[in-house]
Amino acid sequence: MKARNFRYIRPVSLAHAYQVLADAGGEAVAIAGGQSLLAGLNMRLSAPKLLVDIGDLQELRGQSHANGAVRLGALTRHGELLSSDLVRKHLPLLIKAAPYIGHVAIRNRGTLGGSLAYADPAAELPACAVALGATLVLGSLAGEREVKAEDFFKGLFDTDLQTGELIVAVKFPVTPAGTSVGFAELSRRHGDFALAGLAVVATLQDERISEARLVFFGCADRPKVATTVSGAVKGMRPPLPDTSAFEQAMRQDLAPDDTPGLRGDTRLHMATVLTRRVLNDLSERAAA
Ligand SMILES: Cc1cc2nc3c(=O)[nH]c(=O)nc-3n(C[C@H](O)[C@H](O)[C@H](O)COP(=O)(O)OP(=O)(O)OC[C@H]3O[C@@H](n4cnc5c(N)ncnc54)[C@H](O)[C@@H]3O)c2cc1C
Repeated sequence: MKARNFRYIRPVSLAHAYQVLADAGGEAVAIAGGQSLLAGLNMRLSAPKLLVDIGDLQELRGQSHANGAVRLGALTRHGELLSSDLVRKHLPLLIKAAPYIGHVAIRNRGTLGGSLAYADPAAELPACAVALGATLVLGSLAGEREVKAEDFFKGLFDTDLQTGELIVAVKFPVTPAGTSVGFAELSRRHGDFALAGLAVVATLQDERISEARLVFFGCADRPKVATTVSGAVKGMRPPLPDTSAFEQAMRQDLAPDDTPGLRGDTRLHMATVLTRRVLNDLSERAAA
């Protein structure tokens, strides 16, 4: 299938983009890397009248480090995360996660802002943004506002973005020295979206988990902060015991629905296996 007809415009500045989006009043969509949007248009899942190509806007590019945070422009490509010294030094979770996003060709085009705006529940970067406590900078003709990643994702492919708004940048708090990060996912083939995945930020003291923030993806309609499990593993010394309390905590945080080809219970089992794997790996690295 091919996309329905649409008009196309490439704004010359961010202010111009805001104006075009405001004038179109909900009939326009932004296009960044096009890696998700174009497939949707060709399958006629959506039919906007106007595509606003933001791919050339310098205001949406750039990486900087100030006041304990790394700010990444919305147009930062997935592949650029892997080649960025700033990201490597201050945001090791993103370095672990980025290789799982699609394939090289997709990582060369797809953008951070596009991934967060698209809000696929099985995507890696939304979960990392929530795990790291990132803040999104959103802009429109009305000015800029900031939203915590945890509040940005509202449901399946649904976010806090309002008509006429763009993600301008994402601010990630620097991961402090002594903090461990872990990431794992299970998918049918490498490069596929995850069936279940987990991003973890934790601290260990005397080989015990003293703080942990676990965020699952592919297991709910948005990145899921597993507060019960995060609390349950506190004080534990990996490898995690095979107790029913741990299984219960997982079940309390995650209740995946059955989907075609995968039962909810199987997905929950995958998430449990991932949790053990990631937390055990954290402790082994801390010990080393
Ligand atoms: C074969 C294949 C495999 C893939 N596998 C994975 C995977 O494993 N994991 C994964 O996470 N992703 C995967 N993707 C998707 C890929 O990561 C996309 O790049 C990403 O989801 C969207 O980024 P984009 O820049 O291409 O956005 P686009 O496709 O250009 O846009 C997507 C949506 O975001 C909106 N948007 C884009 N930028 C902004 C902005 N700055 N502000 C507001 N709205 C904006 C658009 O209007 C559109 O609604 C895959 C894609 C393909 C084709």
